[in-house]
Amino acid sequence: MSKEAKEKSFITPQSEDFSAWYIDVIRKADLMDYAPVRGCMVFKPDGYEIWELCQRELDRRFKETGHRNAYFPLFIPESFFQKEKEHVEGFNPELPWVTEAGGEKLEERLAIRPTSETMIGHMYAKWINSYRDLPLLINQWANVVRWEKRTLPFLRTSEFLWQEGHTAHETEAEAREETMRMLEIYRDFVENVLAIPVIVGQKTPSEKFAGAVDTYSIEAMMKDGKAVQAGTSHYLGTNFAEAFEIKYLDRENKHQYVHTTSWGVSTRLIGALIMVHGDDKGLALPPKVAPTQVIMIPIGPQKTREQVLAKTDEYYELLKQAGIRVRVDDRPDLSPGWKFNEYEMRGVPLRIELGPRDLENGQVVLATRLGEKRTVKQEDLLVEVQRTLEEIQQEMFNRALAFMKEHTYSVDTLDELKELFTEKRGFVYAGWCGSEACEHQVKLETKATSRNIPFIVDEHKSKCLVCEEQAKHTVVFARAY
Ligand code: AMP
Repeated sequence: MSKEAKEKSFITPQSEDFSAWYIDVIRKADLMDYAPVRGCMVFKPDGYEIWELCQRELDRRFKETGHRNAYFPLFIPESFFQKEKEHVEGFNPELPWVTEAGGEKLEERLAIRPTSETMIGHMYAKWINSYRDLPLLINQWANVVRWEKRTLPFLRTSEFLWQEGHTAHETEAEAREETMRMLEIYRDFVENVLAIPVIVGQKTPSEKFAGAVDTYSIEAMMKDGKAVQAGTSHYLGTNFAEAFEIKYLDRENKHQYVHTTSWGVSTRLIGALIMVHGDDKGLALPPKVAPTQVIMIPIGPQKTREQVLAKTDEYYELLKQAGIRVRVDDRPDLSPGWKFNEYEMRGVPLRIELGPRDLENGQVVLATRLGEKRTVKQEDLLVEVQRTLEEIQQEMFNRALAFMKEHTYSVDTLDELKELFTEKRGFVYAGWCGSEACEHQVKLETKATSRNIPFIVDEHKSKCLVCEEQAKHTVVFARAY
């Protein structure tokens, strides 16, 4: 490899500088580019296709549970925000405003949506009249804008892509059931499609969504031990129903406020995917969301090239017909070694090598992104490829789970937490009395925030790590993106 080519493919090792590693990987794997507007990014085709694959999987799950897609406007009148006090307080600092259009000053400023509870609340008030109109189960795929102070591609951008579900129900019980159903769909999707293990739990009041009664989240651990909030589901009570007058006539002919929920995941998931599975070679994608699942590389000298290419094409068709996302790289001017590195860097889960000797022996070589290599009989190729892709998917989850467990700790006091963070990073379980002051103290002294109150814990802590009063909850603390 020339010096120039080496420099071009150089990725900062994770252990040296994790942030530099992340930027190197997303740039070199060609997932994104920086946009001319602060905090915004361009999703290049390889990055965008990961999102499309996420969308496909999620959309199917939403529809299976009775939701339908709709689309609401990007612009939200200022007066809408004023209707829900907590919502406006929470979102005001992050809102961009349109004050002028068509060369004229607008009578009322329009916010660019940071989320659509207000717009959808306004519309639901028109659409919902009777208990027969409920439940109303709608999802929107859209872009939203939150003017973030600190930004990082995919993980925290000023404009991001997401889905937001908005539902309205007759009773609190039904709305709470929906909140949990969608949280479980997120858990299932993130664990079984993205191969990222998560901690499922409830946000503390200071970390909940502005305007929600209760917020639930799934939290994932990145390879530097920091947390990413990978999805949220909110029970909004009747807060938005009261603000927007969303009422229905119940079965006794009485007017009632509906109970609403909202839930969302964003393109942040792509950032998490990269930070959970990537390594010093670059990106590593779980097969279920890899734009290219299998790369086929014909090898060998010129004189056998035609035969090798013919066989490669035959197997390409076979795999494609079976629904596998497969590509062939038969560019003659690039060496096999260069191609191997290139597709490893781009995170392709499985490589098939086919050369003249393999032809003679009736075999092909399978090499996985996890570093395993074996030869299989040509007649078994399809089943072996399918099986290997499944194994890679499972193994990536297992490795991420093992990593999360290895970097999970438990402390009894704030001093222990401070001590731990001097050299380690990860999730830390600790007792908490429930006071905002104690939670704030942890953040002040360690930069770690409460991620959530997990539904399942190994050990319930008895004392608050700060004030040492009786603990109300066992909380996971971590530094977060
Ligand atoms: P929220 O509406 O605040 O509950 O957020 C919904 C989803 O969007 C969550 O999964 C967040 O993690 C994610 N999210 C929030 N802010 C950003 C951002 N600036 N960039 C990317 N994703 C975000």
